[in-house]
Amino acid sequence: VTDFLSSAERSTRMASVRQRRTAPERDLARALHAAALRYRLNASELPGRPDLVFPRHGTVIFVNGCFWHGHHCPAGRAPSSRQDYWLPKLQANRDRDRRKARLLRRMGWRVLTVWECQLDTRARLERTAAALAARVRSGR
Ligand SMILES: [Zn+2]
Repeated sequence: VTDFLSSAERSTRMASVRQRRTAPERDLARALHAAALRYRLNASELPGRPDLVFPRHGTVIFVNGCFWHGHHCPAGRAPSSRQDYWLPKLQANRDRDRRKARLLRRMGWRVLTVWECQLDTRARLERTAAALAARVRSGR
């Protein structure tokens, strides 16, 4: 069944999610690099493929898109149409995130999550990066 409005809403939302997808990660990585933290990107050998890995500090960071990972913020709201489709899908993403985080913690990693809405302006990005740098450093 094709619902024009909901598919239009969906593709608009997806397009904006796609466009914003990688830039916040890159900006955050750059800011943390400026804070003299050493990291690796997209560690594919670890559960959930964390965006940033700080081996020396035993810490991984996920940079999560608010929509796909269900953040409790305006950008994380599920679409009002086709909820039978979206709600289970978004819930499955959240469940998967939780499972991967649990696995990582069991492996001894400290897991930090950053949301895209925490990086969406220059000021917020810098504030978030400073707070993260302090938290990463406070690890082992
Ligand atoms: Zn958010």
